[in-house]
Parts: sequence; C-alpha cells; structure tokens
Amino acid sequence: MKSRVICQKCNQPLSDWLEPVDEDFVAAWPESENMIPLGRYWIADAEMNILEGRVIIHLDDRRGMRNHPDSMRFHGCCGSSNGRVNLLCGCGVEVATEVSDCWTSFYAHFEPDTTPWQSFPQADSAMRSPSRTRQQGLKGIGFLG
Ligand SMILES: [Zn+2]
Repeated sequence: MKSRVICQKCNQPLSDWLEPVDEDFVAAWPESENMIPLGRYWIADAEMNILEGRVIIHLDDRRGMRNHPDSMRFHGCCGSSNGRVNLLCGCGVEVATEVSDCWTSFYAHFEPDTTPWQSFPQADSAMRSPSRTRQQGLKGIGFLG
C-alpha cells in the first residue's frame, strides 16, 4: 500500500505516494547520495536516536514544500547539515528537514507533530503500523484505518 505525508494544518501533500523500503533494508549512509530509494520511505528505527520513528524519504520525492526563509537553516559545507527544520509547507508550517551536505547522505525527514500520514487506498488495516511515535501523530486525523 502506498502512503504519503501531508500537512496537518492544510492537508497539502508533502511527499509523493511512496512504498515502504524492503523488509531487509539496512540504512547505509553514503556521502553525497540519496540513502532512500526513489519512491520509497523508511521509518527510522531505534538505532537512529533523534530520528527514531520519523519518516525519511528521497529528496526528489518531496512535494509542495518551500525553503525556510532563514538561510541559516540550510547551513553546511556544500549543502544542508545543521539539523534544523528548513522546509515549510506552502501554508507556512515547519514540516521537514533537508539533509544534503557533501559529507552526509541526502534525505529529508518529517516533523511527526505537523505531518500526519495518508494511505492509499484510504483506510484499511492492511497497512503495517509504523512506530508508536508515528501513530501518536496520527490521532484525530482519520486517514488510517
Ligand atoms: Zn500546510
């Protein structure tokens, strides 16, 4: 089943429709390359500490977002690597962080509090549950079965 991230405030899609990474996916962190295959998403696992439970995607699967007006949010060597939220929904809510520096892998991760999950086709229980952190972010949204 495909899923995408949307904005909690305005329901604007913030990613393409994505499939989960393969079950045997192991995070590798190549420099200057996308770490998530195009068209897929990964829910970061416990090894990831601060990213645990967050949706991580390929940079080219972003939709409907614009850069934060504060250029310091993109501070890094050749790209962005300072870990501050730097992508906004069109409505202005802070929704995601782009990581794209020459010594990092390329990816974007979403803020769980402002970016619920929408599945397609909407509703049923076939979708494997993301982490508890993620589910808490879904309460009251009504897209998940
Ligand atoms: Zn929005």
